[in-house]
Amino acid sequence: MPTPDYRNIDPATVYPRALQAMRNPGFLKSPRYQEQQTRANRVGAHPHILEFSDKLVKRGAALGIPLFAHCIVRTFDEQAAAFVLGHSKDHPDDGLWPHRCAAVDIIHGTLGWMDQPNIPHAWDVIGHLGHEVARSMDIKITWGGDWDGDGDTMDNRLYDPAHFELSNWRQIAISGDKYWSPHGASGTVER
Ligand SMILES: [Zn+2]
Repeated sequence: MPTPDYRNIDPATVYPRALQAMRNPGFLKSPRYQEQQTRANRVGAHPHILEFSDKLVKRGAALGIPLFAHCIVRTFDEQAAAFVLGHSKDHPDDGLWPHRCAAVDIIHGTLGWMDQPNIPHAWDVIGHLGHEVARSMDIKITWGGDWDGDGDTMDNRLYDPAHFELSNWRQIAISGDKYWSPHGASGTVER
């Protein structure tokens, strides 16, 4: 299917079009959608990122958009492998990486990362929903779709719109908070 020419589209219709392109109510009823919900490793994750992930998936479903958490927790070995493969620039040796406990990658059930074909502004819609969910939970979330850096430093990371993390993940990973401990049974780092 050729990619439509979006250059002359009325901006007011851009987001409704993106929403429409992502909708797939039939898929929401499929066993495959149910199976996708079980894929991510949730063990050792901070309760806020789990709640955020579940609520964002639900928010999508309410709009007819199938979403699922592709990745939540990466173990030390998984993070080391991701670093070697170039999927992440964050080496786990310091014990600090967002997917240790406080990040989630949310993708579309049938369209994946929504880049083949590219659906203009689809990720803007998902990012908006994510910010809404974070506000409803009264937590601070950082969205990878707001990044446009060259990836040289942690604060200048590459555009990564599937990625959401607790904004204070680093502090949580170091010293924990009242919901999560880096030393507790649920927060134990496997290495
Ligand atoms: Zn991520």
